[in-house]
Amino acid sequence: MGDRERISKTAIRVGFYDIERTIGKGNFAVVKLARHRITKTEVAIKIIDKTQLDAGNLQKVYREVDIMKRLDHPHIIKLYQVMETKNMIYLVSEYASQGEIFDYIARYGRMTEETARRTFWQILSAVEYCHSRNIVHRDLKAENLLLDTNNNIKIADFGFSNYFTANGHLSTWCGSPPYAAPEVFEGKKYIGPEIDIWSLGVVLYVLVCGALPFDGCSLQALRDRVLSGRFRIPYFMSSGKFYVNTIF
Ligand code: ATP
Ligand code: MG
Repeated sequence: MGDRERISKTAIRVGFYDIERTIGKGNFAVVKLARHRITKTEVAIKIIDKTQLDAGNLQKVYREVDIMKRLDHPHIIKLYQVMETKNMIYLVSEYASQGEIFDYIARYGRMTEETARRTFWQILSAVEYCHSRNIVHRDLKAENLLLDTNNNIKIADFGFSNYFTANGHLSTWCGSPPYAAPEVFEGKKYIGPEIDIWSLGVVLYVLVCGALPFDGCSLQALRDRVLSGRFRIPYFMSSGKFYVNTIF
């Protein structure tokens, strides 16, 4: 029996929550939809099996928890509670019922520019909030941008997030290659916010075009595309001028 199966078979109830089903799987975690036994409130519970993690990855989980505890924003998944046993960590958080932007685009295709503008504005407000608190997400991508029942954005997965300082000491390779900034591909040091900003550009392209701006059949090919900075502007993209004082 695999580790993930073991988690799903044993955890039927966590604290006051009844587990209903699996909604996501990561490298070291399983995410479950659960319901409070009394209030019936739905939550997402990220279940992490500590026995599968080395010291470095365990440290990362604690940092994810520490950062999420500090964040309180309408477009960021709210962490409600953390439970820990000898082998497991349970992160109980707000549930985004409409799932990933990735699946939304796979199902419905690209967004209209009007919808993309509204969605992107919400993403930006959340990222600006993080940066103003010296927190960089480092894994912004369509899979980590979730939608709630009203199709409002909820940013998830602070597993790669970190604190940054103006001295610029970060250098860890983070995130997903199609969303990674050129300096990340080049292994250069970075301050932090600028690599989120690059990923945001990729996200905006994905929302409006329904495809990745930089792609390649190998990591090397993708790297070349990103470093060249060239991408296609599809025919359907509006070509109107942008006015900085436009009122949305
Ligand atoms: P990965 O390594 O794939 O990035 P991870 O282990 O860091 O995954 P998350 O990204 O936090 O885990 O969660 C995995 C998936 O579970 C998300 O992409 C999403 O589909 C789903 N998910 C996570 N949290 C929530 C939530 N609060 N509400 C709804 N779905 C969620
Ligand atoms: Mg993720």
